[in-house]
Amino acid sequence: MKSKPGFNTQAVHAGSPPDALFGAVSVPIYQSSTFAFRNVDQGAARFSGQEKGYVYTRMGNPTTAVFEEAVASLEGGRAALATSSGMAAITNVLFTYLEAGAHLVGTDSMYGPSRVVVEKHFRRFGVQADFVDTSDPANVRAAVRPETRMLFIETPENPTIRLTDVRACAAIAREHGLLLVVDNTFATPILQRPLELGADLVVHSMTKFLNGHADVVAGIIVTSTEEQTRRLREVLNHHGGSIDPHQAWLVHRGLKTLGLRLEKAQQNAQAISELLHDHPAIEWVRYPGAPDHPQRELAARQMDGPGALLCFGVRGGLDAGRTLMESVELATLAVSLGGVETLIEHPASMTHACMARDDRERAGITDNLIRLSVGCEDTEDLLRDLAAALDAVGCEVLA
Ligand code: PLP
Repeated sequence: MKSKPGFNTQAVHAGSPPDALFGAVSVPIYQSSTFAFRNVDQGAARFSGQEKGYVYTRMGNPTTAVFEEAVASLEGGRAALATSSGMAAITNVLFTYLEAGAHLVGTDSMYGPSRVVVEKHFRRFGVQADFVDTSDPANVRAAVRPETRMLFIETPENPTIRLTDVRACAAIAREHGLLLVVDNTFATPILQRPLELGADLVVHSMTKFLNGHADVVAGIIVTSTEEQTRRLREVLNHHGGSIDPHQAWLVHRGLKTLGLRLEKAQQNAQAISELLHDHPAIEWVRYPGAPDHPQRELAARQMDGPGALLCFGVRGGLDAGRTLMESVELATLAVSLGGVETLIEHPASMTHACMARDDRERAGITDNLIRLSVGCEDTEDLLRDLAAALDAVGCEVLA
């Protein structure tokens, strides 16, 4: 048997044979909303599913299909369904699997809108939820009720960079008949493949690392069974959160360099975590690659690298943090993450401002927490930029 190709080989080639018509090496963009039928019988056969082929781009498109195959292959999944945003992927999963009266257990510090969509919008339809610190599996077990249907975890968590043990959660999910969904946006399939660890579904905001160039909003769901693919595809077709073919082509282009980008970004993140760790203006740093990260052993067990995101607390609280964020020149003050450019943000006033203050604090999103998404710039330039900004903070804090 041939050995499985390596990650970079799969990222470049999976799903993409040169096109049959002209041999184009880059998958053509089939920018068409609809597809002609040869005759009425063929139209009927395509609609009934008796004949494979395309009908209407909301339901499927050749450019998108090639890209979905590539992501499914990288995640080790059965199939993948690309969506117009990460939130479209998440809401599609929630809508497919939660009925009135169902209960969900989720990671407390997950991406703000992922939590709010359950607590606010799905509550209107009788869905209940508890968000707990899933980094301790005992909390997950304690939150499960007879009506629980889904366990939704994010690891590493946004923005606290805490980790959740996917295998331990998969064991709890199996024991109670729950669907385990993992948001793998922060790790990407290069560093973590949740389906191999026992998860049922993976979701991504492809706006982040998979695309990697801060120029597309997109998402994806990766399935582990044929039945999941069928159910999720039906809901996606009807709800209409499908991706546009041009958007799919752009993300596919980004996907091909995911390994290279992440390698450089991780090197940079490691160097930055060391700089922050030793700086007197910094109170604490959380990075899974740091020797004092409390979950370093779990990171080594379930991830193939510590990733490119870190968070830290500045001495002097939010005022000092504001000075830092406004003093950096190379790092850009912006939300989002996973692009080639380094971004810095303040979750309590930005990405997680939609959460209630108490929930935010319980989830560890303190007012002095600053999140850094490290990009692919030259390491020395990033270190120089941060060191200068930290000096500005240091002058204030230590004065
Ligand atoms: N999941 C995570 C972990 C995120 O960070 C985000 C966005 O920041 C989302 C989901 C939502 O993705 P999108 O903005 O593509 O809808």
